[in-house]
Amino acid sequence: MQDPTPATAGTLVVEHDVPLRQHNTFGLPATARRLVRIATEADVRRVLAHPELGRAPKFVLGGGSNVILTRDMPELVLKVEVRGRRLVAERPDAYIVEAGAGECWHEVVAWTLDQGWPGLENLALIPGTVGAAPVQNIGAYGLELADRFESLDTVDLVTGRTVTLNRAQCRFGYRDSLFKGALAGKSVITRVRLRLPRPWQPVLGYLDLERKMAETGQHAPDARTIFDWVCAIRRAKLPDPAEIGNVGSFFKNPLVSAEQCRDIITRDPHVVHYPMPDGQFKLAAGWLIDACGWKGKAIGHAGVYDRQALVLVNRGGATGSEVVTLARAIQESVYGRFGIRLEPEPVIV
Ligand SMILES: Cc1cc2nc3c(=O)[nH]c(=O)nc-3n(C[C@H](O)[C@H](O)[C@H](O)COP(=O)(O)OP(=O)(O)OC[C@H]3O[C@@H](n4cnc5c(N)ncnc54)[C@H](O)[C@@H]3O)c2cc1C
Repeated sequence: MQDPTPATAGTLVVEHDVPLRQHNTFGLPATARRLVRIATEADVRRVLAHPELGRAPKFVLGGGSNVILTRDMPELVLKVEVRGRRLVAERPDAYIVEAGAGECWHEVVAWTLDQGWPGLENLALIPGTVGAAPVQNIGAYGLELADRFESLDTVDLVTGRTVTLNRAQCRFGYRDSLFKGALAGKSVITRVRLRLPRPWQPVLGYLDLERKMAETGQHAPDARTIFDWVCAIRRAKLPDPAEIGNVGSFFKNPLVSAEQCRDIITRDPHVVHYPMPDGQFKLAAGWLIDACGWKGKAIGHAGVYDRQALVLVNRGGATGSEVVTLARAIQESVYGRFGIRLEPEPVIV
């Protein structure tokens, strides 16, 4: 139950017993014992200066589109709602754009295009907030956040100091960054600056986009066309969390050595695989799951999406533990058949 009269701590509003079902796109039931909305860096410092809240364990929440909540949250939930968008610099080689961590990622992508600053179009329609985008270095259709990243501001959850980190310092990797490693749970990202290169160059190497070019006969699409294509492809492939709870891809695509890849191809000639610049191969996790017969299957109320085996869905009333049970069963079958350990992409709490 939500406390109708939230207690205040200084100018902080502390909400009690907040249901989180509306705050996670899988629609999982969980309650935050205490929740504080963070609109500015000063709000973080106010929390830290508070005699009790300052010491409490904390969990940072954005749009909840990459979390699996398996329990109620005794931690203090910091719901990031920092707003603001602006052009910071117009350099000969790039536009530098800044957005508050609580801004909706997709709206920022659309806004940059409207302003005539292309470069983010391949990352259209990814749910969630700007502040979470660097956490797993979001990526889609041949582009990653790291390719368009300039810097970010983050407030340390112990000292309250704001630090600005550049791209190298964020240690971006495939669906990975410093914020999933050494800084996991230790800081709140408050602002992100994006670097949109000039002149604009389209990124069209991804198979689905090549298909669109072939279908439409448009071989030199502008950024708006790519944005529209990406939105259309995503709407056709992925369930809309407003209708069917999900967190997008549930597992990372595994990387294997050339030798391991050859071995799998010998046994399964159709395995979908992509060569990586470092000589490794990326395998399509969705193909591996599908090959194990999971598409359309369910455990309890958690299921595997019938149009894309990489997406787990809420069939209505699923709990976090049902999702975890299903995920583990999938991991075991993929390991049993291919000897590959699938790693979940969302943060399991
Ligand atoms: C339908 C669908 C499609 C998706 N497609 C893609 C895709 O194509 N590519 C892709 O990469 N991802 C995809 N995702 C996953 C998700 O959209 C991204 O990971 C997104 O960046 C998560 O944002 P969020 O605000 O919802 O983060 P949350 O789920 O709220 O949080 C995710 C993690 O980031 C941390 N975090 C959040 N905000 C902050 C902050 N301000 N400071 C510090 N830590 C923070 C949280 O503590 C948590 O650990 C998809 C999800 C869905 C539902």
